[in-house]
Amino acid sequence: MRLLIVEDDDLVADAIVRALNTASFNTLRVASAEAAQAALAGEEFALAVIDIGLPGADGLSLVRRLRSAGKAMPTLVLTARCTLNDKVKALDLGADDFLSKPFEAAELAARCRALVRRAGGALNGVITLNRMTADLHGKRLLIDEAEVELTAREWLILECLVRRIGMIVSKDKLLQEVASPGDITSNAIEVHISRLRAKLGDAAIIRSLRGLGYRLEEANPA
Ligand code: CA
Repeated sequence: MRLLIVEDDDLVADAIVRALNTASFNTLRVASAEAAQAALAGEEFALAVIDIGLPGADGLSLVRRLRSAGKAMPTLVLTARCTLNDKVKALDLGADDFLSKPFEAAELAARCRALVRRAGGALNGVITLNRMTADLHGKRLLIDEAEVELTAREWLILECLVRRIGMIVSKDKLLQEVASPGDITSNAIEVHISRLRAKLGDAAIIRSLRGLGYRLEEANPA
């Protein structure tokens, strides 16, 4: 399936298309939210990369429309503004991830791979991230094909992050998923995260995003 690029600036669009083609993705580029909707009416896309600043309807209102139309396709929002508020707003509207301009081609490709992989991995329950494989049905973590022992809590946290690979998961969301109410504190989450990081080594990165939460990322994007 192709990736849909919604970007009105030709130079930026060319850079995005080049980065994604190099990463072996096929792309279709359009220059407005209206053109994006027309393309989406005729074809399924694996992912949409959407610029916020567009002529006509902006990128955030496109994301909102896609979500209210029930489109499950992941979206990555590109933003020239990068205040915490803008990011929170994009995620609240249903964007799966965002990237601030200017961005590195390798990072864009890595984020897109993660989002597409998450959408596909949700189907068969096995998600592979370079050297790391999480078997969600068997509840097993493999690094370089060797099983890594996790505590029940560590597994729940990892599972929560893996299911949303490339997306930001708030600390509250982690608390909801891994604990009964009042059972553990948000400080305890940090302790579990740091133990998980030690077990993952350099096979994958759990990035902390201040005020937002955590995001599982692949190590050393190619
Ligand atoms: Ca723009």
